[in-house]
Amino acid sequence: MKFKATDQILSIIGNKKNIRNFGVIAHVDHGKTTMSDSLLASSGIISPSVAGQALALDSMKLEQDRQMTIVQANVTLLYEQNGEEYVINMIDTPGHIDFTGRVTRSLRAIDGAVVVSDSVEGIMTQTETVTRQALEERVRPVLYINKIDRLIKELRLPPEKMQEWLLEIITNFNRLIDIYAEPEYKEKWKVSIQDGSVSFGSAKDKWGFNADVMKKKGISFKDIYEAYSEGGDVKKLAEKAPLYDAVLGMVVKHHPSPDVAQKYRIPKIWKGDLDSDIGKALLNCDDNGPTVMMIVNMTVDPAAGPVAIGRLFSGRIKDGDRIHLIDTKREGRVQSVNFFMGNQREMVGQLAAGNIPALLGLEHARAGQTLSSVAGIPAFEGIQYVSEPVVQIAVEPKHPKDLPRLVEALNRITIEDPNLVVKINEESGETVIAGMGVLHLEIATALIADAKVDIVTSQPLINYRETIRAGAGPIMSKSPNRHNKIFMKVEPLDEKIAEMIRNGTLNEYKDKKEVAKILKDAGWDGDEAKRVMRFDIRGNVMVDGTKGVQFVGESTDSILSGFEDSVKEGPLAREQVRGCKFTFHHFVPHEDPAHRGLSQLGPAARRACTGVMLLSNPVLLEPTLGIEVRVPQEMIGNVAGVISGKRGKVLNMEQKGVIHIISGELPASETFDLSEIMRGQTAGRAMWNTHFKAWTPVPNSILTKVIGDIRKRKGLAPEVPTPDEYVDSE
Ligand code: GDP
Repeated sequence: MKFKATDQILSIIGNKKNIRNFGVIAHVDHGKTTMSDSLLASSGIISPSVAGQALALDSMKLEQDRQMTIVQANVTLLYEQNGEEYVINMIDTPGHIDFTGRVTRSLRAIDGAVVVSDSVEGIMTQTETVTRQALEERVRPVLYINKIDRLIKELRLPPEKMQEWLLEIITNFNRLIDIYAEPEYKEKWKVSIQDGSVSFGSAKDKWGFNADVMKKKGISFKDIYEAYSEGGDVKKLAEKAPLYDAVLGMVVKHHPSPDVAQKYRIPKIWKGDLDSDIGKALLNCDDNGPTVMMIVNMTVDPAAGPVAIGRLFSGRIKDGDRIHLIDTKREGRVQSVNFFMGNQREMVGQLAAGNIPALLGLEHARAGQTLSSVAGIPAFEGIQYVSEPVVQIAVEPKHPKDLPRLVEALNRITIEDPNLVVKINEESGETVIAGMGVLHLEIATALIADAKVDIVTSQPLINYRETIRAGAGPIMSKSPNRHNKIFMKVEPLDEKIAEMIRNGTLNEYKDKKEVAKILKDAGWDGDEAKRVMRFDIRGNVMVDGTKGVQFVGESTDSILSGFEDSVKEGPLAREQVRGCKFTFHHFVPHEDPAHRGLSQLGPAARRACTGVMLLSNPVLLEPTLGIEVRVPQEMIGNVAGVISGKRGKVLNMEQKGVIHIISGELPASETFDLSEIMRGQTAGRAMWNTHFKAWTPVPNSILTKVIGDIRKRKGLAPEVPTPDEYVDSE
């Protein structure tokens, strides 16, 4: 193996054809960490003493405890193919679906993905989720089938059966590409053994091969089989066919270099004018264009402060540059430009398009944001997260004097993980952290403890949502001075449209004609489709349905402020409202503008919206999690018992080798003590994970109690208000 110094690496990346940016994605436990570690050991850039050290990528102690990758690490590798040297940036992504936000952002920085799949388990739910996300970002996936040793040792498959088994996994993988890839990539991106876009191996035993390695080294399935048989030598196999050779060979051959990838990825991820100077520079990955970068990850270095890591799509970035943070219209100064050499961050002074710089000095930057040397350019498309924060806890320092340290620690963890939401309640002074699941919050509190702050936490609390099941109205509500009347209707909003509002496809700034077309295609009346007053990010909309009445235009802001208040805090339990389509039906304003200001129309609109929702069969929604449990056969009954005992359902059972996989769903509110109960019921032999699945109605049998508990916690009157408190008669 050759080793290279920093200046040699920089000279290689001077030629974009010799750069690859890729990531490893997998279902949890399929071997992503073990594989990444094996690649790192072969990097050719850092000292080989790191090789073999336990899970070097999992640098945090916490991750080692949990044996799970939480924080993505960046690693740069060197690889030689046919006499050419390549610099390969590997962006690690966590396997746990609670943190898919990180996976999603990492995909923005890379052009290719290696999908790791356990040979016994094959394509699993998360394999499907992450592969779909990669395809949606036009990131090209190739396949590495891991744990081949299990086929021999556990399933005892002879070589020819082994091949049949693997072909089926490949077929299933290509089916995902068929379903999720855009038409022009469906055929181009299917993987095959013949062209070397599929590799096989054992990350644990550090060997791997694909068709190209087979040809070069003369290895066959028979050799693999023999290596694991009596008298066989797996170490020799790893020397002859090291894993990194198979995987990095695939990356160099089948993943595009950044200049090639940006030609087709930019139109997907950046919606500015492609014929403008910036558009052209982005498409061409042009070093001489304006600087445009997207941050995909922030970490806080105890010595150096915030580190912003991302993909530089155009131009150069160098020490001392002033840069615009496009999303927040702020500015920052790049203190120093760094690049990863192996897994070490090193100052390099400057970098050019197509690379993954790590920037120091940008205090106000956040993951997901766009940076540019030009102010006011269109930002990159928003990242779409598959999860929402559904669980929260209150935290406070054990000793009041630690409050500043707590605030500092919270600040750091939210910089590093933008999917954690920290809210400080102005009235009570209470600090609340919201996350994607119980485990997500456990990790957040462990990180605070790492910062040596003693904290007291509340019981976890679930976030609920409110929606309606029927239409109602028009009803009328008067303003506090009784001189203005607002007439309001509501009906359930089509789920597809609600989703487009939540993910930002439908927003205030979008061209009115385009909005009208989308809504008409979804079945809206043509006139209505042109009269949207507001898209509310929670997935609600207000339409202007008034005909020929005066003063609507100048009253719009006041009415919308009342509307926003009513969907921020719903009528049942003051939880967020989703999926409602309001129509502002009619308006009888006071003649004198002094009597129809915000203080009159705001409350009138809020009362009208709340009142009409109360008449529309309102429901409380709770977050439901998908759960997947792996256990030996004799434990199946116990696991099914645990799930159904927690208001859950078992949806599917599958045997994969000696392990059985039980999938089901259960309400998030029942998962607080799940670890303990599952451990107790299965003698610690169950492996499981959960992910956010859907918002579902709270069952009637417990509805009154759940609403009562939330209202009590919020200091509200115990009873849900009645419509007549909000609705007025003539
Ligand atoms: P990740 O969750 O995808 O990062 O998976 P890890 O790399 O942490 O691996 C999960 C488990 O599978 C660990 O216990 C590994 O030792 C084991 N493992 C990884 N690769 C192999 C392999 O090739 N063969 C076998 N039998 N086990 C493996």
